[in-house]
This record gives sequence, structure tokens and C-alpha cells, in this order.
Amino acid sequence: MSQTQVNAPDRLADIRARISRAERRFEPRLAAGVKLVAVSKTFDAQAIIPFLEAGQRVFGENRVQEAKGKWPELRARFAGIELHLIGPLQTNKAREAVAVFDVIETLDRDNLAAVLAAEMARANKRLPCFVQVNIGEEPQKSGVAPAEAALFVDRCRTVHGLDVVGLMCIPPDGVPPGPFFAQMANLGRRAGVSRLSMGMSGDFETAIAMGATEVRVGSALFGTRPPLA
Ligand SMILES: *Cc1c(COP(=O)(O)O)cnc(C)c1O
Repeated sequence: MSQTQVNAPDRLADIRARISRAERRFEPRLAAGVKLVAVSKTFDAQAIIPFLEAGQRVFGENRVQEAKGKWPELRARFAGIELHLIGPLQTNKAREAVAVFDVIETLDRDNLAAVLAAEMARANKRLPCFVQVNIGEEPQKSGVAPAEAALFVDRCRTVHGLDVVGLMCIPPDGVPPGPFFAQMANLGRRAGVSRLSMGMSGDFETAIAMGATEVRVGSALFGTRPPLA
């Protein structure tokens, strides 16, 4: 399928400028700055390459199969790529996920933690993980309940030996996200993690105001995604 060409350097420069403006406005908390995760799901290598050429190295994908099809070749061409899994993970895909991704952002249940720990040990890798929190407590969304987040982080660390670095969320549609982002910051403090993955194309500046350390931006960089078949 042909995909609309966007001007990758301009899009990247625009989003990066908006990130630094938001960072400056809301105290420069982070020495390293907010990390931009460019969400390339549904876009093919052709559409991704201009962003790599423009210097972007951190990307997010939501499906293991799709990432497996696109990224090994791109890694061979561009050094220093960091690939984040931002979609739900089935335990039977954990081995492939550990092989393809560098960061797992969607750790959301105990049996997945156990399987991921085993697969990481097998591959001799220790990937940083984010625990996904169902911050709006929506039945259709994955993630641990907010009230369980701190306990689950602790269990992933102590029982499974996982390197949990932060919390991740997708707030409910159609309502202002600010209060949910603020609650995430509280949960992060309580859970003893320093990173928060929150904020997408429509709300990443609000997320940064509330303490996001990684923002996941797709359509504002790559353009409108084709509707899912
Ligand atoms: C698709 C997706 C994004 C990016 O969404 P945009 O609105 O296109 O920026 C971010 N996070 C997750 C988990 C996603 O699935």
C-alpha cells in the first residue's frame, strides 16, 4: 500500500521543539530530557527510513509479528536503534518479543512476568520493562488496576527479577487526560519507579507537564494511519 509521504526532518524537528518547550515550561526535571518514542506501527520500512536518516533512533511497535518483519533489516542498516513494545503481549510470543525488542512497555500480569523472566534468562538479556496501568479502569483496556500497581512492580522485581524502570498508561478517550497523568505520577512515586511512559500525539505536552519521561508519538510524526483492516 502506498503511504502518504511526510517530511520526516520537519516533523521530527517540530515534535522535538514542542517537547523541549514543554520541558522548559514545566521545570527541567530530567538531565537526559524526555525520550521521544516514534510509534511506527502500520508504517512500512519506506516510511520509517527518512526518520532514521533524520536521526531518530527510538521507535515503538505494537505487534510482535509486524516488528519482526520490519526491524531486523533496519537494524542492519542503522546503528543504535532502541525498539519499544507498546502493544499487548501474549505469553506464546514472549520469546520472539525478547529477540526483537529492547524495552517492554506492556508488562501487565503475573504469568507474563514469569514467562518474560524465563525468556530473558534463556536469551541472556535483561530488558527494561514498564508496568502498564489501566489508569481509567476501563474493561476493554489492559493494564493492572491503579491500586495494584505498586504491589505488582514489587512482585516483578523481587519474585521474577525483572528490571522494572517505569509505569505506562493509555488514558481514556474523550475526557481530559491531565488528572490521569497526575495520578500516574503519584503511582510512580509510590511504586518506586523513576520513569513514566505517557502522552501520545494529541496530549504529549500535557503528559510532560505531569511528569512523563517518555512520550509515544505516532500520527503527529508519520501521518494518519490507514484504518485497521
Ligand atoms: C498507536 C499508539 C500510540 C501513538 O498514537 P498517536 O495518537 O498516533 O500518537 C501511542 N501509544 C500506544 C500504546 C499506541 O498503541
